[in-house]
Amino acid sequence: MAKEELECSFCGRKKPETSLLIAGLDAHICDRCIEQAHGIVLEESKQTDNSDLSAELKLRKPQKIKTFLDEYIIGQETTKKVMSVAVYNHYKRLLQAPTDDDIEIQKSNIIMVGQTGTGKTLMAKTIAKMLNVPLAIVDATVLTEAGYVGEDVESILTRLLQAADYNLEKAEKGIVFIDEIDKIARKSDNPSITRDVSGEGVQQALLKLLEGTVVNVPPKGGRKHPDQKFIEVNTENILFIAGGAFDGIDKVISKRLNMQAVGYSASMSDERVDHNHLLQYIIPKDLKDFGLIPEIIGRLPVLTYMDPLDAKTLRAILTEPKNAIIKQYKKLFSMDDIEFHITDGALDFIVDKAIEYKLGARGLRSLCEEILTDAMFEMPGSDEKELKVTKAYAEDKISKTTIKKLKAVS
Ligand code: ADP
Repeated sequence: MAKEELECSFCGRKKPETSLLIAGLDAHICDRCIEQAHGIVLEESKQTDNSDLSAELKLRKPQKIKTFLDEYIIGQETTKKVMSVAVYNHYKRLLQAPTDDDIEIQKSNIIMVGQTGTGKTLMAKTIAKMLNVPLAIVDATVLTEAGYVGEDVESILTRLLQAADYNLEKAEKGIVFIDEIDKIARKSDNPSITRDVSGEGVQQALLKLLEGTVVNVPPKGGRKHPDQKFIEVNTENILFIAGGAFDGIDKVISKRLNMQAVGYSASMSDERVDHNHLLQYIIPKDLKDFGLIPEIIGRLPVLTYMDPLDAKTLRAILTEPKNAIIKQYKKLFSMDDIEFHITDGALDFIVDKAIEYKLGARGLRSLCEEILTDAMFEMPGSDEKELKVTKAYAEDKISKTTIKKLKAVS
């Protein structure tokens, strides 16, 4: 065949009409068709991503999950272990082939109890990152305030759909983190009757989502777009993780432990109970006494707690996690060819201030920001190529700010 008579076997374009014509055994393909085919391959592989999820999950055993969590989260050993098992079981349940033995594995939704800033959100984020599944973070208090129970609870799923780029299949295997679940607890001594009722109403509405149901979800969120088409989302395989500070629950635990001590035997004596760290003894009944309805507690079968952060942990949070704050600053400075050093004394000083001002782990960043803003403003573009932050340097910068400002940032 003469050269100019050659044509693309896919689209029929003649050789002169193409920029490139590649010859195969019995056929030819032009540049345009190659591009189009490449697009199809990409599109297809996106769709098979979902089944990749299965392949990936099979590889991660609980110990591997824990190792991954260790890279990002300091301490919280019990919770990391409990979470690893719960997440593993959840996805095992999701991936199991149907069997005829009638044994249905229950969903392992999780509830984490611990002060704010101890890493509950971080835990949920890290798990979602590891599994490469979409994550929606919602605040239970918002659900209470709006009052419109049904619609608002659905908005949780709108967020999840958005996080999944509207890929329904992905959203249905995603994770929802419900923060401040304790704020919708019904409190018997709560003076406001209306709030009390709405709290319980939200709990009731949440129940359905937690146990698994098909919900009509407005993809853009409820009220602003009344004429959008609803998307049906099945929550059966969505993993729900709830978190809350449950302020005052230590008293509930302490009371129960004391009663047990009296009721059973004297051997459950005070010596064995670590009164400074009562959360470790938490059981589902304590959540009920705090004001969560038993059905909700039943749908959050994995109960775990977060340790308060002590100085040692705060210090480690500054430098050790994979994306530790100090590592981030180092990287930022290095992008301007500036070598950034911080002394142990300065790090200890930051931790002391975070504790003194009760700023928690979030305060570490605001403190660093206060200390480093001047340098980050002045140094890029200047001749200075090295920054050494000592305790005196840090003290000087912090003395020029106010606690109010630090709290506002954190
Ligand atoms: P919570 O959800 O319990 O209020 P967060 O997960 O939002 O707390 O934590 C706030 C910030 O503090 C996180 O972004 C993280 O940088 C840091 N942090 C808290 N606890 C830890 C921890 N155990 N390990 C590493 N970083 C932590």
